[in-house]
Amino acid sequence: MALVFLDPAFPDGRVADASKPQLLVTDLGVTRGDGVFETMLAVGGTVRKMPAHLDRLAGSAEALDLVVPGRDAWQRAIATAVNGHRSEHPPTDPATDELVVKLVVTRGAEGAAAPTSWVQVSPAGEAGRRQRETGIDVILLDRGYDSDVAERAPWLLLGAKTLSYAVNMAALRHAHKQGADDVIFLSSDGRVLEGPTSTVLLAHVEKSDDGTSVKRLITPRLDSGILPGTSQGALFTAAKAAGWELGYGPLEPQDLFDADAVWLISSVRLLAPVNRIDGKEIGTPSVQKELTAELSGLFAGIH
Ligand code: PLP
Repeated sequence: MALVFLDPAFPDGRVADASKPQLLVTDLGVTRGDGVFETMLAVGGTVRKMPAHLDRLAGSAEALDLVVPGRDAWQRAIATAVNGHRSEHPPTDPATDELVVKLVVTRGAEGAAAPTSWVQVSPAGEAGRRQRETGIDVILLDRGYDSDVAERAPWLLLGAKTLSYAVNMAALRHAHKQGADDVIFLSSDGRVLEGPTSTVLLAHVEKSDDGTSVKRLITPRLDSGILPGTSQGALFTAAKAAGWELGYGPLEPQDLFDADAVWLISSVRLLAPVNRIDGKEIGTPSVQKELTAELSGLFAGIH
């Protein structure tokens, strides 16, 4: 893993040894999960959708009243970390030349004036690439919040990407114990929300009278207490340009069961087709395959 701390004394970032201890035990990111992060994908050494990730990091930081380094400092540290990783581990196969680039900001050590910020770069796992191909089985789980709570209780930080992901990871472990791969959270008022690390998408294809087909791509309402996905945002823009109609919830579980295809989308795993929800087959396999190929092609073209 390549590790680069953001440090005003080092304009391109301070390179550190990821195999050695680097944080104080009083760091509030460690003791309270008090901080924010982003996870990006670099393909062939180029980070995808970097401006959207830096925008979201700034938004998450604002929600936590956290002052984070500026864009230029991030861009330089990211370049140092990605180039550092690639020079130590030169890619052998362009098909698997994928790196996970994680940006982390914590509130810093107790009593410290400044946050702790770093970039870490590691190879993307095989499991995510496999799930793009094979698809995933998902279970629906109650998140316990209603779909209006984000606005009513902003201190819950529901639209921010905070370091407090223990709940999301617990939901994934719960799914794995049931033999499923992933989760779609529901609000307490029965709305479809998001996955623990992904955005929900569904598609409908309708044939019109003149024989042409209308394709509609739908995602849950962005103001329902979910994290606005940079992948969903980028794919919606590309799909619109390719003639798709777009829609934003509210969605209920029945909408998932009635869809022609459902996916979980995120920056590293990309588009993962959902084969089954709570054991029930989703969509039409031939349509799912065709739409997955089309949307994956559109998504691959995004930078
Ligand atoms: N929703 C949650 C809760 C996430 O953690 C993530 C990403 O990890 C996403 C959605 C998808 O966001 P993106 O497409 O920007 O990776």
